Formats: sequence, structure tokens, C-alpha cells
Amino acid sequence: MSYLSYVNPLQGTASVFGYSNGNTLPLVSRPFGMAAWSPQTKDVKDGWFFHPGDRLLSGIRLTRQPSPWIGDYGQLLLLPQSGPLCLETSKRQSSFRPEDMIVKPDYLSVRLSRYRASLEVTPAERGASLRLNYERAQGARLLISAFEGEAGFRIDCERRRITGFTRTNRGGAPDNFAQYFVIEFDCELDEKACGIYDAGFAPVSAMEYTGEGAGAYAGFKLPDGGGQVGAKFGVSFISIEQAALNLERELGESDFETVHSQAAEAWESRLGTVEIGGDEDESRLRTFYTCLYRTFLFPRKSYELNAEGNPVHFSPFNGKLYDGFMYSDIGFWDIYRTTIPLFSLLCPGILGEMMASWVNAYKESGWMPKWVSPGERGAMPGTLVDAAFADAIVKGVGGFDMQVAYEGLLKHATQEADLPLVGREGLALYERLGYLPDDIVHHSVSHSLDYAYGDFCIGTVAKALGDEAAYRTLTERSRNYRRLFDATAGFMRGRKENGEWTPDFDPLDWGGPYCEGGAWQCGWAVQHDLLGLAELYGGREQMAAKLDELFASPPDFNVGSYGFEIHEMSEMAAANLGQFAISNQPSFHIPYIYTALGYPAPAQYWVRKTLETQFSAEPDGLPGDEDNGSLCAWYIFGAMGLYPLCPGVPEYVVGSPLFGRMRIRLENGNDLVISSDQPARTYVANIRLNDQTHEPLYFTHAQLTGGATIDFEMAAEPADKYYEPRHLPFSLSAL
Ligand code: CA
Repeated sequence: MSYLSYVNPLQGTASVFGYSNGNTLPLVSRPFGMAAWSPQTKDVKDGWFFHPGDRLLSGIRLTRQPSPWIGDYGQLLLLPQSGPLCLETSKRQSSFRPEDMIVKPDYLSVRLSRYRASLEVTPAERGASLRLNYERAQGARLLISAFEGEAGFRIDCERRRITGFTRTNRGGAPDNFAQYFVIEFDCELDEKACGIYDAGFAPVSAMEYTGEGAGAYAGFKLPDGGGQVGAKFGVSFISIEQAALNLERELGESDFETVHSQAAEAWESRLGTVEIGGDEDESRLRTFYTCLYRTFLFPRKSYELNAEGNPVHFSPFNGKLYDGFMYSDIGFWDIYRTTIPLFSLLCPGILGEMMASWVNAYKESGWMPKWVSPGERGAMPGTLVDAAFADAIVKGVGGFDMQVAYEGLLKHATQEADLPLVGREGLALYERLGYLPDDIVHHSVSHSLDYAYGDFCIGTVAKALGDEAAYRTLTERSRNYRRLFDATAGFMRGRKENGEWTPDFDPLDWGGPYCEGGAWQCGWAVQHDLLGLAELYGGREQMAAKLDELFASPPDFNVGSYGFEIHEMSEMAAANLGQFAISNQPSFHIPYIYTALGYPAPAQYWVRKTLETQFSAEPDGLPGDEDNGSLCAWYIFGAMGLYPLCPGVPEYVVGSPLFGRMRIRLENGNDLVISSDQPARTYVANIRLNDQTHEPLYFTHAQLTGGATIDFEMAAEPADKYYEPRHLPFSLSAL
């Protein structure tokens, strides 16, 4: 069975600045690969450089862009040409037939009509094998263009190679950052047809040049009628020599087909972690495996292997070289919710490497990472690397230094940051008041709730490491969410330093105290104590009624402090799921809160409806920013019928499984088999775990990883069933 055949990398790519159908790129890459490749159809300075509706191609781009909002770094553009030389960016695009372009995770092929040439790419972890097919000999060449910033090129006709570097980046990189590269061709270069050009597209007379916005081209001696040129591309963040070493190790003497079959095998083995059996709907399989592909793209390996085969990395934090792992292009506010818990199930080994790399980030920068690409970009509320470490530690993920991790987490929970972009903004105010005052700190509610949950997570780590005192202090602090709950309004509200509520409350207002949402979306970030939150609402029933109101309300909003309609607002309006904004992370867990309260049926209804109406494998197939695997991992968990409601607690609450049978091959050799007797039905009537009746509304991580068979008996209608408190998932207040 080929899992790759179900994957459509174009999923979510039909996005524009004002409206996100995913804001994804059709990435051709190895799983977690350092080098990814995408067609580029627009020559723009911003991140929206590909759209599936475009019919002109600028080239194939080596890219590391995790999101158009973050931008790219170290990128290069490859364009095969024949005929007259055309260097200018605005003039060199060529028509292509997007319907004839093949984009798969392991292979890309596109023909440029204007240049009578095509390009095939198959990825290596730190490079690619390329095949250039020229239909005529005259002017057959390959352009390699750098973007803004300093770039250097050297053409060595004798060794049939071009080497160089580019320093292009959007911030978050030290001054000595560079992406180095080596391209080796399998045919002779025509020295007279090779050249380097400067930022003004004027040729320079030397075969070696460094300057702003430079580029180079290699001309080939081909027989009349054209022919094929093979090229191997190696990259490195360390040096040209390391790029050559990476090229030698990963591509060596292998021909294109060999590299292609290795890339396909790498994907088949990752995607094959989850095997779906039975007569399943083809389009649903396409959606599932396309989402699974997206979860295995990020974070990217940014470490390399030295001559001895040991991991080494260029630190994107301080520009020095170190031993050990480094992964980048990821934000913790986005990925702690679904991606990290999914990795803890599907690939705990590689998750351990990632955690080790974030311990390295702390050692090299002095602070735990928040949003890295390649170094710290400092975006979004909270310090939710807290939840990533807590989740990995309570689930027994190894491979990193827990004590140093704990030191890093404790530091930002107790010390004001001395650097911009890291740590917790307003920490002293939070420590004094138990919340961030809305008259002093922007997005005060979102930050405060994320700090409180983060404290719970760090407390969990403290407990695991035997620091009882810190565990007690941080756990007590994690109850701080209570200070922002206004029982009269029935919402979490902004509160001033003097204790008064911020006036003129409207739950439809976005921004102000809330980040990328309003009170409806951002007031539920209390994953660790949903029963405690229920007490504030007057009980479980009253809180469930509030959720009913959330889903029943029209998806209206006020632009609030944003002053204009941000795309997340437009996507919530389009989804038409009430105030449940599946387009953005703060809403991810909202339907599953019903389950935490003992009312699983409405959770199953809303999750199933969302899975079935909001996701597909098509270019418009995602309900908002995909965000580096986070939204796709939400889909994967939904399809499993499980959800990690509180990362940092080793539990998964019950959802509504989408397939008749799913077998998950765990790294420890055990199988997790999830079956549904009637996958067309939405509601779970009964659950059997390893042939025993299972009453709790959750499974523990140990139950799943110990090897488990879960049989869901489904019903067309919800059952009117009472769940005893002991069968509800973890809540701090129930301890
Ligand atoms: Ca988002």
C-alpha cells in the first residue's frame, strides 16, 4: 500500500494575505528535513509566493518558511532556461501548466513552456537530487538566484560545481548566519555560458563574487536537440565544506532514482505509522494522510552530522558551533496543543531529539525558546514550551537533560527577561497581582491564562524531579486564572491594576485583553482545571450551557483593538460553527471541554461536524492557518477519536473516531488498534479497552503505549448517560 499516493501537498495553499485556507506551501522535503522545496509563482517580498491558481512560474525555491507571517531564510531560487539569457526577476518568469505539474512529498516535476525545459526534484535531508531536461541545446542553463542580503557565488568549471552562500533572513539570526550550498553537475559546464551577476543583473567578470542580491548561472554543453543534466544540491548552516560533506553523505554516487526511492521510503515509513484498514472513503484517506504528512514537516532539523557522524549545529542564537541536536521553524503557542502530544505517541524517539535541541536553545541563548525560525522570533502569548516539556516528561520521553530543562523553565517563571522576545512579559506584575493588568499589558487575559497554565506545567516538571516546594508554589499560582473570571459577565475579562474590570465589555470584541480572538475564544485556556472553571460558572451543567451558547451564537465579531478585520475573524465567519473558531489555536480544545465536564455527546457532535466539513486534501482544504502541523494534528487526533485536552497530563479524552479500523505502530513495538463498529455514526455508546468495558472518558498514555485495542460502539443518537466524577479526565480542583 502506498500512503504517499494519498498525500496532496497542495492542501491549504489557496491562501492570500486576507484569507487563509491553510497558508501552507506545497513542500517537497524529507520528514523534518533541513531543506524543503516549493514552486514559486510570485516574485514578492512577503511570504505569499505560491498560489495554485497562478500560471507563471518563477522557479523552484529552496525554502524554510514555516508560515508567511514569519517569512523565509536562507532561501534560493532555481530556474532552468534555454534560449536567450534572461536574468531580470520581473522578466524571467515562464508559463507552466499547473495541471501537469507533479508535486508529491518525495518528488516535484514541472515544465516551463517558454524555456522548453523541465525540472525534477527529489529531496535529501540536507539537499536534493535534481534532473534538468532540456528540449533544445541552445542556451541550456540553470539560474541560481539569491534574495535580499549578501550572497556569494563561485563557479568551478573544472570540478563542475557552483558553491556559495546566502545570508538572507527575516530576523532571528545572528550576524554571521549563512546558508551555504554546493551544486555538483554530472556534465561539463560551458565556461563561456556560465556567469555571475550583481543586484542590478549586470554580469560581473569574475567567476567568484560576493554582493547584495547576487546570482549565478551554469551553462551546459548538450547535444543538438537537448538532453538531460543531473545535479546534486547540498546545504549547510556551518560551511561550504560541511555542505559538501552533507552532499557526499546523503547523495554521494546515488542516481536520481535511488534518491527518489529513499525519499519515498522515508515517507512511507513515517506515514505507515498509522495504517487505516477496511473499505474507507478515498477522499477521507487523502485528507488523513495529507494531514499526517503536514505534521511530519515541522520542526525542521537544523543540525548536521560531522565527519564522524555525530550531530553538530550552528547556533541560530549566538552564531557559534556546538555538538548536539537543533530543530527549528516552530512556535510553542501553536504546537504544544496537538503536535507535541501526537509526536509523543507516534515518534517519541525523534521528539526526544527535539526536546534536547530546545535544551540546547536554552543553554545557547540563556532562555527557553518561544517561536524559533531559525533563532528566536518571540511571538504569541505565554511561554508554552512549558507544556511541551511537561508533556514529554510525564510521558517518559527521554533523550534530553530534564534538570537543565527544568532550570530553563523555572527561570522564565521567576525572572524578568533581560532580552527582548523571550520570557514572560510583565512577570513582576503577574507575581504581585496574580494577573497582568489590562491597563498596562496588551493581551493581558491571554498572557495571564497562559502563564497560569504554564505554571501548572512547570509544577508538573518540578514534581517529576522531586522539587516539592516549587511544585506546590507553581501549582498554587496555576489557580490564578480565577482572578480574571467575572461571574456577572460569565467571561474572563481584562482587569486593571487597581482591581477594577476594564469597562465596556463586549464578548464580541477581539483584541485588547485577548490575542487573536475575543472573550468567547480566549477565555477557556484553563486546560489544567476545567472543573475548577466549572465551579466559577456555578457547576458543570452551567458551564456546559455556556458552551451551548458559544456554539449557538452567530459567528459575529467586532474588530476591536485590531481596527481592521484580521483573517482569523473572516475564517471564523466562514466556518459557521458559532463562536468556535477552529481557524485558530485558542479554540482547538473548546469542543472537548464538554467531555471534561461529563457531557461527551456535544463534543462528539461538534468535533465530527468540524472534521467532516472543514478539512479536505484540496488547496482550500483547511479552515485557517495550518501553523506547522498544529491544525493537521488536530485532525489526526479527531480521526483517532482521542484528544490531548491538557498537554502536561498523560491523558487523551474520548472523541468520535472517523474510521472503522486504525492501527498505530508504536515505536516500542506495540500496536494501538482503534476500531469503530459504525464509523458513519457520531456518538460513542460504549467503549471496550482490551475487551474490558471502559467507563472513563479518557485513556492514559500508558494504556495506549502499552499496546491496546480500543473498540468503540457507536450510536446514531446521543445516550443520556451520567458520568461519575471519577470517570472524568484530570482537573486540578478534583485532586
Ligand atoms: Ca494560528
